[in-house]
Amino acid sequence: MLAVGSWITRQVPELNLPIVPERQVLAWFDPPTAPDDFAVDTCPVFICEHQLGRSVYGFPRLTTGVKASIFHDGEPIADPDSYRRAVDPAEIRQLQESLGSFIPALAHAPVRASMTCLFTNTPDARFIIDRHPAFPQVVISSPCSGHGFKFASAVGEANADLVTGATSRTDLSPFAVGRFGAATVAREGPRADGLVPQHRDSERDSS
Ligand SMILES: Cc1cc2nc3c(=O)[nH]c(=O)nc-3n(C[C@H](O)[C@H](O)[C@H](O)COP(=O)(O)OP(=O)(O)OC[C@H]3O[C@@H](n4cnc5c(N)ncnc54)[C@H](O)[C@@H]3O)c2cc1C
Repeated sequence: MLAVGSWITRQVPELNLPIVPERQVLAWFDPPTAPDDFAVDTCPVFICEHQLGRSVYGFPRLTTGVKASIFHDGEPIADPDSYRRAVDPAEIRQLQESLGSFIPALAHAPVRASMTCLFTNTPDARFIIDRHPAFPQVVISSPCSGHGFKFASAVGEANADLVTGATSRTDLSPFAVGRFGAATVAREGPRADGLVPQHRDSERDSS
């Protein structure tokens, strides 16, 4: 099971996966609590397209504060081991300006913390959940493109079905590796590390 997020291209270079890791900036705010407009039973998870094609999103108050971020606003990164983790104050100001147009109470609230994370983007913004085309005993699962976390339980079920050979409870065809034209590349020969491709039983029967 390869569930290595932005590191996936390093694990399966032969697939030439068109993945672009993206650096994201997140911040946690401490708006006033009397009244607490951001309490979990009052405030929904929210997302707002505050400019055409640009969205800011956030979550109600948890013990860590009220989290907010600009969706897909980060720079592409080349190496997940050495990207710019520090948050620039200008990036926080940009987030505050984006929040200011529709949640001024949050935009003007004290910033408790900030952090970066990685989104692992595919060209169609969908997951990759599939067997390796040449090594069917290897499952690739890279729930990504910035919405993987919300689907974690469903992705876990899909992973379990693939690993145990059970019939999948979900149609996984939208998440196939082959949609990027990668399968052909994988079958052309052994990897640089000498691993020899195998073929699925169904393919052997038909050849
Ligand atoms: C503060 C923060 C807030 C976030 N908020 C959200 C959010 O609101 N919504 C959302 O969808 N996503 C959010 N994300 C992003 C979210 O973390 C990712 O979308 C999600 O974790 C991706 O899951 P993954 O399992 O594919 O990859 P990852 O969580 O990146 O896990 C990959 C793991 O593989 C390990 N690994 C890599 N190479 C190897 C190797 N060779 N051997 C062994 N292990 C290896 C890595 O160390 C890592 O632990 C946030 C991230 C952070 C840090």
